Amino acid sequence: MAFSFRGGIHPDYQKEKTSASVIVSNLPRPEAVVIPLSQHIGAPCQPLVKVGDRVLEGQKIGDCESGLFAPVHASITGIVRAIEPRWNVSGVKVLSVVIENDGTDDVVDTEPYTGELTDLTPEQIITYAREAGIVGMGGAAFPLHAKLRTAMDRNVTSVIINGCECEPFITADHRAMVEYPRFIVTGAELIRQCLGVDDVVICVEDNKPDAVATMRATADGTGITVLELPTKYPQGGEKQLIRAVTGREIPPGKLPMDIGCAVFNVDTCASLYRAIYRGQPLIKRVVTVSGSAVASPANLLVRIGTSYRELFRHCGGFTRDPYKIITGGPMMGTAQHSLDIPVVKNTSSLLAFAENGDEESFSDSDTCIRCGRCVSVCPMRLQPTKIYENAVLNRFDECAALNVTDCMECGSCAYVCPAKLYLVQAMRMAKSQIPREGAKK
Ligand code: SF4
Ligand code: SF4
Repeated sequence: MAFSFRGGIHPDYQKEKTSASVIVSNLPRPEAVVIPLSQHIGAPCQPLVKVGDRVLEGQKIGDCESGLFAPVHASITGIVRAIEPRWNVSGVKVLSVVIENDGTDDVVDTEPYTGELTDLTPEQIITYAREAGIVGMGGAAFPLHAKLRTAMDRNVTSVIINGCECEPFITADHRAMVEYPRFIVTGAELIRQCLGVDDVVICVEDNKPDAVATMRATADGTGITVLELPTKYPQGGEKQLIRAVTGREIPPGKLPMDIGCAVFNVDTCASLYRAIYRGQPLIKRVVTVSGSAVASPANLLVRIGTSYRELFRHCGGFTRDPYKIITGGPMMGTAQHSLDIPVVKNTSSLLAFAENGDEESFSDSDTCIRCGRCVSVCPMRLQPTKIYENAVLNRFDECAALNVTDCMECGSCAYVCPAKLYLVQAMRMAKSQIPREGAKK
């Protein structure tokens, strides 16, 4: 019997638009790709190629000597036309390698592992994860090799594989669990082998019964448990997931590994499988393209560096002019200002909404009526209304005392607020100010 977490909401999920859509995996290679040298938490990579070079699909084109990083690879074969700053998903320009397709399908030679999984050492698994440039694909883009090493050092005893995918609209992980469960389960076994843990649980929300059944059938006999969790946003948040699986709370300011847990996304597991048994670096990922302005919503297997414009084109373009484009889900995603931004390793979705479409609409901020709804839904047990009042008056010490740094920016408070206050923006602003305030002391 699974626990749940306090708070949370039940938004209109609208996953039915793509939940039965088989992943389209035969898209033609794009004419060009833009590969940002920073697609992860940590230091940006240095380019390993120069303008005019011919690069092969799968070739490493950016790397870093030390620190927190993940190398990047060419996702098509072609000529490097530019290495220059380009807009990325966060609205800033980052150094990127622009590759023009040369029309060939040459692929870099690799040597997949052919031995037994149980013969792999932790160092070998970490090296495969590093060389393949794998990052957390559920959103955070934390380099996998660094997470595995830290988990080893911290003696993690409990591994949770996250297949909840609790954001509305997104079905990329859902389809991955239905269509390539063996990759995910073997990836989970690889993580178990690396960390030497016994306790591995794959979590799936109960709004994906076909994924639950497929994962259970595939994991049968492996010693890995598949747990069906009640559907509630943000069930896929690390702290909420750990609470649901173990019943344990992570204290304010602490991380999952502080209580012996590590959480990995299902598609991250599949990427580790591909790196080791297929010799494939992370150059493709599944992206859900959906929203009220999209002609034919779909799940697409796309090459890293493909532009948003290309993805919408593959989905039949727009039925109406989109007034809002979001990557990463409507609750925690990021609004986009251009269709020329490339897909990166943690791009799980691309959504386009028409005005008065099927997303939540926001009116101008009004006055708090002290209804308390924001407090009752906050999964981090914060008091959003009090933090908001202090944040708008620049009282950041009070915000810190109210534990605003624990805010995961899930958007649940803003979703239920009848006054439509900009609560998440206030949290984000307060969080960004707190280190600065502390530095003055
Ligand atoms: S955005 Fe922050 S304050 Fe609002 S509900 Fe989520 S965790 Fe709580
Ligand atoms: S939900 Fe909105 S109106 Fe209600 S207490 Fe919170 S901030 Fe105020």
